[in-house]
Amino acid sequence: MNPDELGKAVTSAGGKPFVARQLAQWLYKKRESDFAAMTNLPKALREKLAQNYSLITSSVVTSEDSGEGTIKLGIRLQDGLIIEAVLMREEDRLTACISTQAGCAMGCRFCASGLLGLKRHLTPGEILEQFFHIAAILKKESPDAWLTNVVVMGMGEPLHNFDGLMNALAVLNAEWGFHFGARRITVSTVGLPDKIRDLANQGFQFNLAVSLHATTDEQRTRLIPTNISTGLINIIRASADYYHATRREVTFEYTLVGGENDTPDDAMRLARLLEDFPRANVNLIPMNPVEGTGLRAPTTEAVEEFTDALTQAGINVHVRRKRGRAVQAACGQLRLKLEKANG
Ligand code: SAH
Repeated sequence: MNPDELGKAVTSAGGKPFVARQLAQWLYKKRESDFAAMTNLPKALREKLAQNYSLITSSVVTSEDSGEGTIKLGIRLQDGLIIEAVLMREEDRLTACISTQAGCAMGCRFCASGLLGLKRHLTPGEILEQFFHIAAILKKESPDAWLTNVVVMGMGEPLHNFDGLMNALAVLNAEWGFHFGARRITVSTVGLPDKIRDLANQGFQFNLAVSLHATTDEQRTRLIPTNISTGLINIIRASADYYHATRREVTFEYTLVGGENDTPDDAMRLARLLEDFPRANVNLIPMNPVEGTGLRAPTTEAVEEFTDALTQAGINVHVRRKRGRAVQAACGQLRLKLEKANG
């Protein structure tokens, strides 16, 4: 809810309009999810609000700590569907990875999220609730601990749930909301050209990460079925448009799949594809093997050779460490396990 909506909620529960500001502070600045704890609101109002509204509709059903700074949460929605959110720690960064859909319609062959198809979009509230669950963990450590970065890289294709995503990110970014800087928020997409341009036109400075994963259309369509209608070049063009509209650097993600897209020739083609791209970064992700996909991780040597070839071609390249592999932090893997366990 934005301040107007909060105002209506407060007055319809018999409160004074100015209380909406206090309520917004409790919700978005203190990340408090229990009306009873909002002690500067009149008690009768708190009780009435608690009768009329639920601040949290989802619950954490599993929390797996990798021991190396990654905590993965399995979150059950009101209708029983499971999504996941991850908290990652590295040096001075504290990053939340959040989901935007239960399941996914994109069907990337190496990814666990799409194996069971799309169940449904998350509501903006459900997207934001993930921050309250993460806040509860951080509060135990210190009252002031908060995220430095947010990546929309969990379950689902964020740009497929465009309205839900934008409503949630607007609250995350707003001064009256979480007041979280757009430049510290990254939206990761399978590459939907029209939606990338729509995102550029929203007037935010989000970082864009584009999941490229291949260097020819044939190869990309084999790994990513949606490519048949989008096409590689259109995605790169839309990404360039995003850069020109927002002046934010674009990152291309490239999941290395053993024997599919991981040769030095692929690396050279990738470098050529990005040759004219203004300020491109490449994030290499060695595939986390997912049972049932028939695909395998690249060898350590293949990752090294690929990285070296890109670096020599002048590309700014990072290899994503396998953070949280122990807790199955690759997209959708935790949910798959939970759903299997639940039959
Ligand atoms: N739908 C969005 C965001 C979700 S996935 C997107 O496609 O970008 C975030 C990243 O993890 C994507 O680059 C995705 O391709 C990659 N990914 C998914 N499953 C993976 C796996 N098993 N191993 C390595 N990377 C994976």
